[in-house]
Amino acid sequence: MKVEIVGHSNRNREIYTATVGTGDKVVLIQSEIHGNEKTGTEAILSTLEFLGSNSPEAKKIREEITFVALPKMNPDAAELNRRGNDMTWAEILKQFPQLAGSKPAWNYYTYKNEVFDYESKPGFDVNRDFNPDLDYVPQLKDFPGKSSSPGWFITPESQTARDVYKSLVKEYGKVEVFVDLHHQAPYYEGNGTDDLVTYSISAQFVPDPRTTEGQAYVKYADNYNYNFSRQLNVAVYDAMKNYGNSPFGNISLYPQNQNLPGTALGAFALNGSGTVLFEVRGQTQSMGQKKKGQLIKAVERGLYGIINGVSEGSVYNIDPEKYESIPLTKGRQ
Ligand SMILES: [Zn+2]
Repeated sequence: MKVEIVGHSNRNREIYTATVGTGDKVVLIQSEIHGNEKTGTEAILSTLEFLGSNSPEAKKIREEITFVALPKMNPDAAELNRRGNDMTWAEILKQFPQLAGSKPAWNYYTYKNEVFDYESKPGFDVNRDFNPDLDYVPQLKDFPGKSSSPGWFITPESQTARDVYKSLVKEYGKVEVFVDLHHQAPYYEGNGTDDLVTYSISAQFVPDPRTTEGQAYVKYADNYNYNFSRQLNVAVYDAMKNYGNSPFGNISLYPQNQNLPGTALGAFALNGSGTVLFEVRGQTQSMGQKKKGQLIKAVERGLYGIINGVSEGSVYNIDPEKYESIPLTKGRQ
């Protein structure tokens, strides 16, 4: 296993990748872009432990894929146990003087409530700072921006993830799979029961560039592989269902028809990666240890569905239409 420092946060904390395997298909997995969404990081560490082990199965997977983990990619937010990073608009202007005169970016937090103090330590939602144009340079006309427009790579954390992605594309030709690990508020499964979902998954972050809604991204149409993203999500769903009756069974589809080109998932999907979102139930702040352990295990099992499906090739034979039968998330607790 190769561990490297690939960048630094705004408060100069190290950002790491861990790479295991020598296969020609790259599976890139990221966690804690939102610093209070922590089960993903622990699931990544357990997955690395398994993939680096002496088991014949891990050895076989290592021959087929190169697994690249980017855990806790937003360490300043992780340290503050909150969503946004720790960076002021003034710091942005120092690095990008061409933005002088603009209002701060729309995803800049400056409020204070009982949990988060963005007033004394403002910060950005880093997961709205990505742009499908990986060489984009910030321009005044694109600010303050909005949810349905691309971001700008103004934060060092998004720049680091972008640089990791670009260097993998340079070395391997493409990043086959990109997975982003998150948390959400507790949701009910959509199948009529009152069971809470374990987590929600999704393949859909931007409108398809081949449709009218997605015409802003038409130049990415040849790269975008929505069917492969759907196959990967079905692989997760099937892996969880195969465990039968367990506390991990309730997987739902995250709300669809999203238009979020500033997310890492949206930007990388338009660059040709099969993409999977995990949204684990509940914020880490309000989670007991036992529940947290179960949810980490559930994420690990879902990730295994992806890793195993890609390494043995079975994911490419899945009918992508099965994605449409995953129960849609319905109703919030
Ligand atoms: Zn999140």
